[in-house]
Amino acid sequence: MPNIKARIEDFNKQLPSGTRLVAVSKFHPVEELQEAYDAGQRRFGESRAQEFVVKAPQLPQDICWHFIGHLQKNKVRAIMPYVNVIESVHSIELLRLIEKEAARIDRNVDVLLQLHVAQEETKSGFSVEELLQAADEGLLTGYPHVRVCGLMAMASLTDDMDQVAREFDTVRRTYLTLKDGCFDESEDFNELSMGMSDDWQVAIKYGATLVRIGTAIFGPRQY
Ligand SMILES: *Cc1c(COP(=O)(O)O)cnc(C)c1O
Repeated sequence: MPNIKARIEDFNKQLPSGTRLVAVSKFHPVEELQEAYDAGQRRFGESRAQEFVVKAPQLPQDICWHFIGHLQKNKVRAIMPYVNVIESVHSIELLRLIEKEAARIDRNVDVLLQLHVAQEETKSGFSVEELLQAADEGLLTGYPHVRVCGLMAMASLTDDMDQVAREFDTVRRTYLTLKDGCFDESEDFNELSMGMSDDWQVAIKYGATLVRIGTAIFGPRQY
């Protein structure tokens, strides 16, 4: 088993001060999350609603839970009591539903808008055009229980780091356009979540404020 504590300490040494680590714990048992917690880790990322709602109540209350997986509409209600940041908002319809479910239990939640920049069609997210159009139409703001805090993206699964860099650059430029245009009055639009175990070094060059690291902390997942 990997030395989770040593790996977390290693990341904390290597990441620049403006970049925080989200420990992606999907498929790993609560004992391993607890080990990361005991090493000081407080931000965890889960991607499956059913797994998340079983694990979250078993772990300490001061964890900041990021939901990073494809979120189905019928799962929003289930995750709402536990989640702090929903990173994978891929449509306006989902954003509206998150507002509705957060209001229902009188909770506030942070979200990131997921941008689709990868070559794989299977990944979800807004296209750049869709997101800029939604901004023009005023659809990204005005949600009393939801703070829209930035963008999230996944790069293509490829060894071509120039391709990955181009994709992260697109995310960064889109983020800056929105920050100037749509969120200029807001102090909240500050996060760029990008970079995983194999491409986080590239992501920090393009301004990632959150990196989502699973395998490099917890080892390979047993699907
Ligand atoms: C699983 C996952 C990660 C972590 O991937 P690793 O390669 O194991 O670091 C990051 N982001 C998302 C959206 C994921 O689903």
